Amino acid sequence: MADSARTGAESQPLCLRFTKTAADRLAPAPRERLRRPADLAEWLATAGLGAGESGEPPSVDEELLREARELREAIYRAARSVASGERPAGADREHINAWAARNDAYRVLGDTGVHWRFPGASPARSALAVLAADAVETLGGVRTGTVKVCAGSGCVAVFLDTSRGRSRRWCSMGTCGNRAKKDAMRVRQEG
Ligand SMILES: [Zn+2]
Repeated sequence: MADSARTGAESQPLCLRFTKTAADRLAPAPRERLRRPADLAEWLATAGLGAGESGEPPSVDEELLREARELREAIYRAARSVASGERPAGADREHINAWAARNDAYRVLGDTGVHWRFPGASPARSALAVLAADAVETLGGVRTGTVKVCAGSGCVAVFLDTSRGRSRRWCSMGTCGNRAKKDAMRVRQEG
């Protein structure tokens, strides 16, 4: 079985995948993967939130990029709170809820399968609202699974543990899980 299938990496909720566009969050300056408007457009298209039936990267400007990063950080902070058994801060909840309230997107059956339709003027803005609505569901405990913080060294990514027994510890087996396994092996060899 492929790692992604076993760890459920591919099935991670969109909103949590979105929080990983800021990497190395423990570093003095997190690595920003959404540096330019085109980065956000590409990410949305890759996440299946592209515009039109072909799912093309939607048009994004600097203003929307800034708003997207703000929404992402509100989702991330709220997820950290949920992971530690606390209620997300009121300001973050309001921020996420306000975006979710703008959700006007719906799914349609097209020629090549299911895709999103964004009836508003800005498909990218509607796509962010979809991410916020997904955060409401995921952080509100509606989905099956437990929101956790990755146990990998130097990683504080958030993920949804849907494993039986809720025993998953890493955001991704491909990165953090493998590193932890190698570290454990080295300790055993050296000890
Ligand atoms: Zn990790």
